[in-house]
Amino acid sequence: MKTVISTDRAAAVELLRKGEIVGLPTETVYGLAADALNPIAVAKIFEAKERPRFDPLIVHLPNEEWLERVAKIDNRSHAPINKLVTRFWPGPLTLVLDRRSIVPEIVTAGLDTVAVRMSSHPVFAEIISELGKPIAAPSANRFGRISPTTAQHVLAELNGRIELIIDAGRTQHGLESTIVRVRGNSIQILRRGPITAEQLSEFAKINIVAASTQKISAPGQLPSHYAPKTPLDLIDDAKSFSPKNDQRVGLLAWHPRKGDLQIAQRRTGDRRSLQFLAVRNLSEQQDLREAAANLFRYLRELDALGLDLIVAERVPSQGLGAAILDRLERASHGYSVAPEMPE
Ligand code: AMP
Ligand code: MG
Repeated sequence: MKTVISTDRAAAVELLRKGEIVGLPTETVYGLAADALNPIAVAKIFEAKERPRFDPLIVHLPNEEWLERVAKIDNRSHAPINKLVTRFWPGPLTLVLDRRSIVPEIVTAGLDTVAVRMSSHPVFAEIISELGKPIAAPSANRFGRISPTTAQHVLAELNGRIELIIDAGRTQHGLESTIVRVRGNSIQILRRGPITAEQLSEFAKINIVAASTQKISAPGQLPSHYAPKTPLDLIDDAKSFSPKNDQRVGLLAWHPRKGDLQIAQRRTGDRRSLQFLAVRNLSEQQDLREAAANLFRYLRELDALGLDLIVAERVPSQGLGAAILDRLERASHGYSVAPEMPE
């Protein structure tokens, strides 16, 4: 694939509509953008960035009307959120709010919350307004590299992996957006950025959560990832798995199978012959993008059944498979939560 740097905004809108990813300028850093409501398009972001794990992505909104379409805002939080939005949007302030189901799980890494903002960059604003839909856009760099502040940096990072980078010169802040969680009148700063605590304190009581502890799930802190409550085991192939006694087991499958499990499920008279109570196939075609797009939703669905165990078949470790395996390993039995490396 040849990567072109241009100022052709219409071409960017066209690619986004088709479910492709594009490098776009924002007022913070250059972002790698996809239609946020298209889970396969969002999977392409993780593929191109070679992130070895899934992180929740910030959702950029075309206008304020979209806020209540993607997030649920309780009565207590309405007034403070309105004040913040009126004062700081469009701009580098990201709000973490309760997610609505229109937002695909791959965007929020399975969390119940969604992070939203509105970019003040005129080029970004024009493209998203033309698209008329939210855009998911993390920084346009490969994993472990610094965030790009020019179109040439994006090219150096993602040459050959994306079709188009929109050039609008150097970005204004060169620093990622401030992230806050709003609950009633209290604002928790999750990540410091261009909008400072002093600016925010005009509005409400401020509670600062240190970045180093934010990623470790501890009581009362925001989890940065969804983790199923049901114990999970990673296996190579479900064909060689049999449940113990009355164990109620669900399968997250990678290998295609021809209805054998469905038949096993129907023989409800003899519980011992029942191999899996529920099966979710990550991708019938064994397409890793589709598997990534389905991963969190299926984990959640299986988790909601109150099973004794979920077994998940290992996916290949190339490309997006590495991030899928990382997520499954973190969810698996006996895994101890370790701090994550910041990108
Ligand atoms: P960025 O790298 O600028 O795109 O920012 C992404 C960061 O936003 C993630 O690493 C998280 O720290 C934060 N974030 C995104 N979505 C959420 C969410 N739903 N809940 C909490 N933090 C989030
Ligand atoms: Mg980044």
